Amino acid sequence: MKFRSQLTLVSLITFGWLLMAAQPSQAATATTTPIAPWRYSTTTANYRDKSTSAYYQDVWRQATKNWQKKGFKWKAVKGNSKTVLTSYSDNSAQGVVYIGMKQTKYTASGRIISNKVMVNRASFKRFNYNKAERVKVAEHELGHALGLAHNNPGSVSVMNPANRSHSIKNVDVKGLNLRYRTPYKTVSKDTVYVTNSALKVSPDLAIQGVFGGHDDCEHDEALSL
Ligand SMILES: [Zn+2]
Repeated sequence: MKFRSQLTLVSLITFGWLLMAAQPSQAATATTTPIAPWRYSTTTANYRDKSTSAYYQDVWRQATKNWQKKGFKWKAVKGNSKTVLTSYSDNSAQGVVYIGMKQTKYTASGRIISNKVMVNRASFKRFNYNKAERVKVAEHELGHALGLAHNNPGSVSVMNPANRSHSIKNVDVKGLNLRYRTPYKTVSKDTVYVTNSALKVSPDLAIQGVFGGHDDCEHDEALSL
């Protein structure tokens, strides 16, 4: 009996070690995807899709719909919106390493003034992203737009800093819920910030200069209102 329980203990230890060894370099997924300093007033926001092709209109339609299924309602409008979705084509050596970009203008109290969300058609083509992967990149950029930051490198999250294959996971929904848990407060005098972020193509590519080789570039710059 004693021998048997010792054997069980040894197998448990061995099994545990094997489990750990199976994922040596993967950082754990944060159980709640971290949040950014900006948000919409509620979990409903409208957007204007400036895509001219039916293909990219469908990429945005699918990505917004997938967020809607998880609790954030995106509504397409024809007129002006503070949120604009579009694509661009940059095949230059420095530009092609970026698959998606987003620019948010927001205030110190967290109010979004404008969001410009973009995907790079040239990188999609050059690095053979299929349509499902393009939708996931669009979901990632929309995640930033609505107020999520990155989950860890290697995480199983749509907000993985180099996401190509993950859709919106429970950890991301928890981040969304955390971001919108409190009611929105308006502030009359408020400083304005602009922040840019860029998603690199995955697998990671060597990059020259611009953003210092990191996955993501975020800089805040204060403007007067
Ligand atoms: Zn990102």
